[in-house]
Parts: sequence; structure tokens; C-alpha cells
Amino acid sequence: MKKVGLLVCLLLVASACGGASDSDDLAALRVENEMLKSQTTTTVAPTTTVAPTTTVAPTTTVAPITTVAPTTSVAPTTTAVSTTTVAPTTTAVSTTTVAPTTTTAPATTTSVAPITTVAPTTTIPYSGPVSEFAVCTNEGTHIQCSGDGMPVVEGAPDLYGKVNSFSPEALCASDLDIRLCGDVANALLWAAKEWGNVGAIEYYVMGVEESAADSLIEVFCNRRDERNNWSRSECINRSSELPSEFSMKSYHTNSAAWLAEGSAAGTMGHNGGREWNMHNFTSSVPWGFDSSYDVGSPPGTQDQQTVFHEYFHAVQHNSHLSYDWDERDRKMWHRWFAEGSADYMAALLAGRLTSAGLLESRLSEIAGKGAYEFVNEMTEKLNRAKADFINCGGNLGDTGRGGKCDTGDAAYSGGAWAHVYLEDKHGDDVLMDVFYANLDAMEPEDAFALAYGQTVEEFYVEFEQFLSLPLSQQLSILPSI
Ligand SMILES: [Zn+2]
Repeated sequence: MKKVGLLVCLLLVASACGGASDSDDLAALRVENEMLKSQTTTTVAPTTTVAPTTTVAPTTTVAPITTVAPTTSVAPTTTAVSTTTVAPTTTAVSTTTVAPTTTTAPATTTSVAPITTVAPTTTIPYSGPVSEFAVCTNEGTHIQCSGDGMPVVEGAPDLYGKVNSFSPEALCASDLDIRLCGDVANALLWAAKEWGNVGAIEYYVMGVEESAADSLIEVFCNRRDERNNWSRSECINRSSELPSEFSMKSYHTNSAAWLAEGSAAGTMGHNGGREWNMHNFTSSVPWGFDSSYDVGSPPGTQDQQTVFHEYFHAVQHNSHLSYDWDERDRKMWHRWFAEGSADYMAALLAGRLTSAGLLESRLSEIAGKGAYEFVNEMTEKLNRAKADFINCGGNLGDTGRGGKCDTGDAAYSGGAWAHVYLEDKHGDDVLMDVFYANLDAMEPEDAFALAYGQTVEEFYVEFEQFLSLPLSQQLSILPSI
């Protein structure tokens, strides 16, 4: 029997990702969903600044990196296939595409000798050419999207610990709109640009029709089988298990149930993949990317932020190389730290892209409307975390599963603010350049002490004091975006 990876997930959001019964989960999700809706109503001048994605020292990438069947090529071939099948829908996703970014990519594809070599990077640098837009094809069995002009991984080379030039892949159930899948892929590409292109990323999005869900499971399992990861039959059995909290099939059954209820709840997770040298994501329907679903019109910008959150888990996983499940689990460390950093980094990226006028404007025309409001989002997170900490009578150290403050708001939102606080005090490069850069060689407690100059217990006390300050003082440490 295979151990299927670590589960780091985002239930939209809150509590569960692990414990709790199914019905408890559903209740929590509905509540959270209400909160998400109310959050989006308020306004705050998005303001200025820009260039979030920018920089990108392309130097890092190309040279040493991988190996691996450079032939890959799914990308280039795309066009022919897509025009036929996708006809009406392609436009949004692919049109803008072809022209601009293509140029850089082929260079990457070329070189490349045989095997995986490559010095593991210490600092997780920015990656090289990442396309601006995804191209999508309807393969019949599923929809597949990847960066325009970028190669996709073939085989199962070990890319952990590096940045690379392969495109993240969004693989979506065939009952979903191709533009929804394109929005998922575009969000993955932005995240790759921002935090480094790690991989290999396989992001599976389940839909509401059972036959389409079964087909996507077959696509997943055929890949595992072809890449000598897992036998097809065992993969299909395990991935189709029901009831199960985290089988692939459960993301479909949850989606179908939520649609029937008219609830825009969602669940998605980084479900391991180290043993297969990939990052295995599964998601329920991101309703905000397709407003034709009758679930109360959630905005697509929230789903973009969610994809960013998930991608950041891949960045975290990319920072430690062991294949040992227990070691990986230990290095993901406290729930507040892993989920809080993913939550905060995702919010920050969404906020910056909004300020640059990019986030909402690049959604396809079928996505739910509504801007992303960084300050409001962060204020809501802070208020909810404070309320939960008052209720539970504990602090960040109690937000692990089974702890007395084991709630989504305490762990995710409290954790997000813990990272706001740490960043304000120590600088915005410490998380990546010190903590995650040293995590492979160190225990997380030591990496934390190295990064932040104190033990985590000392930090808990300090952060508790911060939570008792007046709101205006707390909000004043948010970075301007
Ligand atoms: Zn998460």
C-alpha cells in the first residue's frame, strides 16, 4: 500500500483539512463561505504601486537544469488540436497568448542533456521564462492547460529543490468550461513567476459529473502507471475510494453536493507527490471561475488567491528533499506556519496584482466579477483570528490539529498575521531566503531561530501581545502594495 503524501490543504476554508467528520466539514465550509461573501462587499482604494511579478533573474533557470526529455512539447503542438475542439471557448485563454512570451521558451527546451544532475538551490531563486498565458486543449477525456510555449515534464525526473522551466499543468474534468481550466493555469503561472517555477506541478480540478470525474482519475492513473509511479489498478481503486476525505473522487462528490445545495464551498489540497517527483494537487470546482454555476456568484479573484495559496505549498515542499514521509511531515512544521505563510503570501500576491491592474482583468469573461481588496481581506482575517483566540483562550501554539485553538481562522488567519508580523519585524526576504533556504539542512525549530532570532515559544508570547493592540496599530504593519 502506498502512502499518499502529506496533505496540506485549503478548505475554503477553515477547520478541517484532516480531522472532523464529513458533515462537520460541510458545516464549517458553509460558514466560511458566508464569510468570504461578506468580505468581498467592502471597499478600499486599491492604490498604486506595481510590478509584483517583475524581476525574475532568468539566469538561474536555464543552464544547469534538467535533463528530461526536452522533447516534451505538448505546448507547441497545442494549436492544431485546440482550434478544432475548443472553438468558441479557446479565445479567452489562448488568444492573447501566442504572440508575446513564446520567444523565450524554446531556448529552454533546447539544450538539456540527459540526466537530472543539478545542484540543489539554496535560496529558491526566481525562475526563468514563465509564460504570461496558458494555452488549453480539450483532450476529450479531460482539459489540459499549460504555459504557452513552455515544455511540460515527461517521465518523472526529480525536480525538487530547484526551479525549472517546465510549465505547471492544470488538468480539468471534461465537464468544466475550458476557460475555467485556463484561469486555473494562469494563476499557477503567476505564482510560478512570483515565487519561482517549481515542479513538476499537476493540478487536477474535478467537476460535477461523475463520468468526467472517472475519466480524469484515469488520466491521473495512466500517468502514474506510465511513469512507473504506481500501478494503474491500485491507483484507480485508491483514487476512487468513497467515502473518503481526500480521494480524488471525493473532490467530485463534494463539488456535486455543494452545487446541489447552491453553496460555493470548495476544497483543494497539495496532496503530496514527493514519491513521484511531482506536486499532486486536487481541487473541487473553483466556482468563481465560472459564473454560470448557481452558487451565489463568488468572485474569480478569490479563486485566483486560492490557487496562489496552493502553489505556495509546492514552494514549501520544494525546500526540503527527503523522500521520507515522516521527515517531510515534520519539516512542513506547525500548521499555523505552513498555512499562515501560504495564506499571507497568496493574499499579498493577489493584492499586488490587483494594484497593478492585472488580477481581475485577466480572468476569462465567464468568471465571477469582484475586485480583490487586500486590506479588507487582511482586516477580516485579523478580526476572525482574534475572535477565535478569545474563544479558545489560547495562542498560535494551540492551533495544531486537536489543539484547543484548532480552527481554520486561528491557524490560517492567525498564521497569516503571524507572518505579517514577522515580515514587518525582520524583512520580507527572511521567510524564503533564510527559513526555507535552510530547511533542508536544519530542523524547522532551528531554521526559525536562525531566521527570526528567537524560539517559536518566545514568538508566541510576543504575538499574543500584538493581538491585544488596537486594530489601527495592528493594521499599520501591513505592507503597502
Ligand atoms: Zn493550505
